[in-house]
Amino acid sequence: MKDFSFSLMQNITFGAGSAARLPDLLADRGLDKVLVVTGPTLARMESTRRILQALEDRGIVYSVFSDVEPNPSIETVNKATDAFSACGAQGIVALGGGSPMDVAKAVGVLAAHGGVITDYEGAGKVPGRIVPLVAIPTTAGTGSEVTAAAVVTDHARHFKFSIISPEIIPAQAILDPELILSLPRSVAAAAGVDAIVHAIESYVSLAADPFSDTMAEKALELLGKHIRAFAADRSDMDAACGMLLGSTFAGIAFARAKLGNVHAMAHPLGGYFNIAHGVANAVLLPVVMEFNAPCVPECKLERIYRALSGDLHGPFQTEKLIAAIRTLCAELDIPKNLTELRVDPALIPSMAEDAMKSGNVLVNPRPATREDMAELFRQAM
Ligand SMILES: [Zn+2]
Repeated sequence: MKDFSFSLMQNITFGAGSAARLPDLLADRGLDKVLVVTGPTLARMESTRRILQALEDRGIVYSVFSDVEPNPSIETVNKATDAFSACGAQGIVALGGGSPMDVAKAVGVLAAHGGVITDYEGAGKVPGRIVPLVAIPTTAGTGSEVTAAAVVTDHARHFKFSIISPEIIPAQAILDPELILSLPRSVAAAAGVDAIVHAIESYVSLAADPFSDTMAEKALELLGKHIRAFAADRSDMDAACGMLLGSTFAGIAFARAKLGNVHAMAHPLGGYFNIAHGVANAVLLPVVMEFNAPCVPECKLERIYRALSGDLHGPFQTEKLIAAIRTLCAELDIPKNLTELRVDPALIPSMAEDAMKSGNVLVNPRPATREDMAELFRQAM
């Protein structure tokens, strides 16, 4: 068994209605002026209005930045940082899916350390603590509320780059399953598959350890059990709890063990074609799993298969796992391939080159060359 050391750098609060605790949790940290970073749709929702009202009732001054787009850009990070300075905030509340969290983390870095966001591109470039950040996920999901990564799109380079540093892990995560009950089905499905991919990639990663494995296994169990029910009926509270907790556990797993080729390849699909992250992952997962399978212990492949298929006792072969992934994505009405997503095959060489720049390639269980990446993109077409 691998040696490891373990620490969690944040406080996690879970429970139906727990978003109402936000004012208390901010006050506990001495924060009475905050910037709320969210998306335009969320900003108009009743649940958001209630959270803002609770801040007001408690005398916490807030300003809202809701101009966050999917695959958020450097320009959006700059505008949000200006909004943070303009309102004199001491802390940030990130309310939303992955995009508002990415922006909030990037603002937290710039507000604390200055410069431009590309100064912090890569691993370990953030020199110290960022502005206190409270993350409230409204999808299940990205796991961004517990991870050390922020992803920003540089349109000039058609490149989604990552800022990876333990310093950007939100100080506080609030997991309130009531906030995910009104998700559109397509978002619930894509975000749920993203969480499953986090659990799988961290589970088979070369950097996996007994702690991340435990988190990934529990995540797979919860996500596999609940994803179909949650996609079918987002008001199912039991399924919502399972999905939200599963996605957070998967986030904790990959914050330690990193990801793999699926994420390395999904980022250029977002950068070049603005394809939603979860959808890109779902389309790539079966081809990457097939490629990786010879280098993954069979007991892990079997465990993933049992969690996703619900087949607890039948005989196992790798082909059954690949088929189970394809069946799950079809049941969730996720596009089958990159052709359906109008990906231009002429850009495969550039995308393969960008995928190789991801640190996740280094922990993918099977080493891959740029030509392997291009071939995987072709297979996903
Ligand atoms: Zn992801």
